[in-house]
Order: sequence, then structure tokens, then C-alpha cells
Amino acid sequence: MNVGVNIRRIREELPENVKLVAISKTKPAEAILEAYDSGHRIFGGNKAMEIAAKYRILPPDIEWHFVGHLQTNKGRYIVPFVHLIHSVDSMKLLREINKEGFRQKRIINCLLQFHIAEEESKFGLVTGEAKELFSSPEYSEFENISLNGVMGMATFTSDNDQVRMEFRKLRGVFAEIKNEFFKDTPYFREISMGMSDDYRIAVEEGSTIVRIGSSIFGERDYSV
Ligand SMILES: *Cc1c(COP(=O)(O)O)cnc(C)c1O
Repeated sequence: MNVGVNIRRIREELPENVKLVAISKTKPAEAILEAYDSGHRIFGGNKAMEIAAKYRILPPDIEWHFVGHLQTNKGRYIVPFVHLIHSVDSMKLLREINKEGFRQKRIINCLLQFHIAEEESKFGLVTGEAKELFSSPEYSEFENISLNGVMGMATFTSDNDQVRMEFRKLRGVFAEIKNEFFKDTPYFREISMGMSDDYRIAVEEGSTIVRIGSSIFGERDYSV
């Protein structure tokens, strides 16, 4: 598995304006370094402690993304260095990130995660909940949060039409929220959707950030 070659192959397929986040998850820092040496700088993970540990030992010019479910008490581990948190799905979490951002004197870029899949297990808000959040007085006082867009995960299925519909739904949610709350906010522009099995469809449906793990690093080993 040559991660540099994999990244180059995927990169060539993507439109230039679509950002590729290489999701390393359980892979060791050496695998990230191999990708780094091939020129890639944008990496992500879904465990706060894990990316904090990797951040400490890897080159400082890596742009780190957090894509997993973030427990409120773990926010402080990634707030010092994270470039974008893709997976904010509650007021409680936003409040915590804002508080940590204030403490550490950083503005934290966040995306709101929406529930677009059929599966019960996937995290995320529905449109009504997000509107309620943006309308609340508390939200307007978050000075250390920059809301940059939306994120979603499609159902794990081989039915491409369904996946496409779900991505289309996320794009619709993005447009609706942009129009209602972020019309004059140029940086509210990101739609994070697309993983190894569905990024081509996601890009066709308007993705601006794809999050790709196994197609770059190989299958994950959860036994270690
Ligand atoms: C693991 C993960 C990815 C990457 O998944 P692959 O199928 O390995 O490409 C993307 N997004 C999130 C939220 C993930 O947890």
C-alpha cells in the first residue's frame, strides 16, 4: 500500500476546489508521515486523544481535521491546534468548544453535522434543530466559533441512488441555512461529504471537502 500514490490518484480525480482530508484513524504516525513526505498536508481523525497525540509528534505544518463524535469533555485536547471540527451536533458541544476557544485564544472553525442517512446510529442534527440553534440568543454570543458549513454521512449501502439523494439533501440543507442565516457570511461555504466508497457521488452533488481513509491507508484494523 503506497499512501502517496493513493493520494495522488484520488487528488487527480477531484476538482481543484475540493479539499481532500486523509483520515488516518487507527493508522500509526508513520503512515501519516509517508503521506506527508509525498506532499500531503491535510489529515484527520475521529478520536480526540489520538489526533492530539499524533499532532505532538508530527510536523507542525499539518492541517488537522476532527471528524468523529466529540465528547464535550474531550474538546480541550484538540482546540489548541485543530483546523476544522466537522462534527458539531449540539448546542452543548458548541458551548464547550467556544469556552475552550476563548480560554486558548483561538477561533475554532466548525461544521454542523446533519443526519441525512437512513440508519438510526448516525449522529447529526435535523434542519429544524439547526434553525433553532442559530436563532437562539446564546448562539449569537459565541465569539470563538466560526461556523463554516455543514457535514453529513450517507447510508452505508450499495444503492448509489439512495446515497446520491442523501447528499443532495445535505446540499439542500446547506442552501436553506445559508440563505436564512449566513447570506452575508462568505466563509459559510463548506459541504463536507464523501468517503472512500462514495466520494465520487458526493463531488457530483456539490461536496467541497471529502474525508477519505481506507482508500488511502488501506483497511482499518480495529483489533489493535
Ligand atoms: C472513518 C471516517 C471517514 C473515512 O472513511 P473511509 O470509508 O475509510 O474513507 C470519513 N468520515 C468519518 C466521519 C469517518 O469516521
